[in-house]
Amino acid sequence: MRNGFLRLSGLRDEFVRALNNAVNLGMARDIRFETPLMWLNKAETWALADYWQQLPLVRAETLTCYNGIKGDGCGECAACHLRARGLADYQANAAAVMAAMKQKSGLN
Ligand SMILES: [Zn+2]
Repeated sequence: MRNGFLRLSGLRDEFVRALNNAVNLGMARDIRFETPLMWLNKAETWALADYWQQLPLVRAETLTCYNGIKGDGCGECAACHLRARGLADYQANAAAVMAAMKQKSGLN
């Protein structure tokens, strides 16, 4: 699973770079697509939400669930399991995960 994730991340990065190049070829102004979560794992994504004091909002108002249920979702699908595991990892190791997220994101 982790190798699959890394391979997918690499492809996404290549895709975003190509997209940025293609979009800007015919434009009079610079447009840049950014993907700030691409290099963060789920625990680090929760840390980023917490860094900006938005963890309760992100937890309640975002959608991860393959069954379309906002917040903590259905609790049954793979996306809900990943989300819940990431949150539990962050809550269990908040200082270390926050430090890793800041390093990857260039935040202070
Ligand atoms: Zn679900």
